[in-house]
Amino acid sequence: MSAADLHIVGAGPAGLSAAHSAIVAGARVCLIDNDHAAGGQVWRGGPAAWTDPRARDIWKTLQAHPNFTHLRGAQVIGSAGADSLLLEAGGQALRLDVARLLVCSGARELFLPFPGWTLPGVTGAGGLQALIKGGMPVADKRIVVAGSGPLLLATAATAIEAGAKVVAIVEHQGLARLSRFGLGLLFRHQDKIRQALALFARLRKIPYFTGGRIVEARGLDAVRSLVVTTGRARQEFACDLVAAGFGLVPDIDLACAMGCETAGGAIAVDALQKTSRPGIWAAGECTGIGGVDKAIAEGRIAALDALETSPSAQDRAALGRSHDFAALLARSFVPGDSLKAMCRPETIVCRCEDVAAASLAPHRGWREAKLATRVGMGPCQGKTCGPACQFLFGWAPPAPRMPIVPAGARALSQIE
Ligand SMILES: Cc1cc2nc3c(=O)[nH]c(=O)nc-3n(C[C@H](O)[C@H](O)[C@H](O)COP(=O)(O)OP(=O)(O)OC[C@H]3O[C@@H](n4cnc5c(N)ncnc54)[C@H](O)[C@@H]3O)c2cc1C
Repeated sequence: MSAADLHIVGAGPAGLSAAHSAIVAGARVCLIDNDHAAGGQVWRGGPAAWTDPRARDIWKTLQAHPNFTHLRGAQVIGSAGADSLLLEAGGQALRLDVARLLVCSGARELFLPFPGWTLPGVTGAGGLQALIKGGMPVADKRIVVAGSGPLLLATAATAIEAGAKVVAIVEHQGLARLSRFGLGLLFRHQDKIRQALALFARLRKIPYFTGGRIVEARGLDAVRSLVVTTGRARQEFACDLVAAGFGLVPDIDLACAMGCETAGGAIAVDALQKTSRPGIWAAGECTGIGGVDKAIAEGRIAALDALETSPSAQDRAALGRSHDFAALLARSFVPGDSLKAMCRPETIVCRCEDVAAASLAPHRGWREAKLATRVGMGPCQGKTCGPACQFLFGWAPPAPRMPIVPAGARALSQIE
């Protein structure tokens, strides 16, 4: 089904930008996403909710274009042979032959373990933002946002707009490193410094702590408070919700299932976004964390190359700028070793199988620990605890396996 010149998995900024470039070039495009609304993470909520003019312009071209097919609510669960994808949509299994595939699968949050992180009311920072954008009521709820990275500020802003009271933002990085990040923006990315200043202006009344670290979330049936250290001081914030995020991890599962190589935890691509497998390109956060501009630039270049068109000097310049910003982000928000102290021996690391840090620590690697403790053998298949164990113990994360997400028997029976 779906005869298209280019199949794209992921309708976030990378996939939408690629679809737009391909449609403008006259190609037939099939865009697949497990969400029902296009937008991915940063443009979550679908076209009606978008404020970014770039997203609105892209959609104006795509919607109702005769060459554009949007397979919504369709989860790609892996490959079904060398050049076909296996999808699950509406309880049905679909097999899709793809001549040219562009993977724009985005990223997941790095969620690091601390005592109380499994309590109801504790979520990832991006996770809480996604819930709020999805309609979860948070009016008058007291929220503490903690961890590291720019997503903390974006989450706090979303929560405030939805009527929540953000009690505190606790950033792990120290003031010196944050200042260097700010200077990097000032000298090389003025558009971003404007965005950052506008965000800080919206958050100016919220206590913002730097050099902080979570000690524990407290509560019996749900979170009631978060204890943090900032330098030598220890503070406890009463709250209804905790949003804790420590950065992002590229989602490489589909690319791995298709046999593409990875490098440094991301899908390996060349300067034109080609992966190691002929006929497969990758773009956006799945090739490395760098934000929306990188996703847009890479999506465009990948689509052009897939259609055998050379990118312009302007396209290459936009890509270069976005990679420079990605490098600045990576330097500025690398999770420090001191965050390992958040995880105590009794802290649960594998949330699906209830495996505590003490039973993991004696093992030499993921495979040995998995055989002995069932770590990573629950429904998430190591998507959360894999990166956590990599951070805590230095283990190479588990290789994604088919199906890349839990799937029904009908779809499973078609895996080759
Ligand atoms: C939870 C979260 C919240 C974020 N919030 C912000 C924010 O507020 N501001 C900001 O600047 N950046 C935010 N980011 C960073 C954000 O990822 C990027 O800026 C931008 O969205 C990246 O675009 P992308 O197209 O690469 O990926 P994404 O926007 O993540 O899009 C990837 C899409 O692929 C789909 N997908 C993945 N695998 C499959 C599959 N197997 N089958 C079908 N569909 C699939 C996903 O559902 C998703 O819609 C957030 C990231 C995360 C993880």
